[in-house]
Amino acid sequence: MFRALGLAAAALSVLLLFGAGQAQSAQSGVERLYILNCGEGVAGDISRWSPGVNEGKSMDFVDTCYLIKHAQGWFLWDTGVADAVATMPNGLTPADPKAVHWRRPKTLAAQLDQLGVAPSDIKAMAVSHTHPDHIGNVEMFPTTMLYVQKAEYDWPGANNEPRFKPGHPVTELEGDHDVFGDGSVTILSTPGHTPGHQSLLIKLPHTGAVVLSGDAVHFKSNWDNRGVPSNNFSKEQTLTSMQKISEVMGKENAQLWINHDKAQRDTLKMSPEFYD
Ligand SMILES: [Zn+2]
Repeated sequence: MFRALGLAAAALSVLLLFGAGQAQSAQSGVERLYILNCGEGVAGDISRWSPGVNEGKSMDFVDTCYLIKHAQGWFLWDTGVADAVATMPNGLTPADPKAVHWRRPKTLAAQLDQLGVAPSDIKAMAVSHTHPDHIGNVEMFPTTMLYVQKAEYDWPGANNEPRFKPGHPVTELEGDHDVFGDGSVTILSTPGHTPGHQSLLIKLPHTGAVVLSGDAVHFKSNWDNRGVPSNNFSKEQTLTSMQKISEVMGKENAQLWINHDKAQRDTLKMSPEFYD
């Protein structure tokens, strides 16, 4: 009698454990998100990003990378200004004085090291687009699978050069993509700033849903006013992509974290603190 009860209890606990495990994996495999400092700079003339508004005014910019811990492995979103800029005493002076003069107060390598994460630990990565302040350190991760829109990958660079090292492992996307197959990290196709620009939707267990903008928008007043930078690839696509992000935010009850917006980033926790 007691033995039979014991067996039944054991069977029940196995069922409960199995059930709990299943519920968790069906929920979300994302565990944490770290915000990394991937550059700091000063824009010479902010009206470059908001034609007709604030002409001749300079503004501080930040450049942000995001490291995500998923049950299946680490995922890096954007790689920032090249770490080599950290060794340049005056930073990176832009050819166009209206553009951003970037500095690198902290390297990406040092921030990963602080978290005990080696570049080879990063299973997958994606960049929002191929401007230098986002792809500066892609080759720090030569074996990491790179997710990029085909339209961006095939976009000819200066002198017809490829945008990425041809040998780098790559998955070329044509539209949205659920990276881990559980809906917790979704690449959103948001063209306009460049032909294959993309943004990222993450569903964190406690923080909730967050959209990482990439450069679909550069700062909050441009988001509020639907301002489009003069040097964007397509104004029409940019506006359509902003509308798409707005719809995703409504559906997922998501926050929008804007990559270059210093005022917003100053309100957020930086690595080694994290969001879960
Ligand atoms: Zn940028």
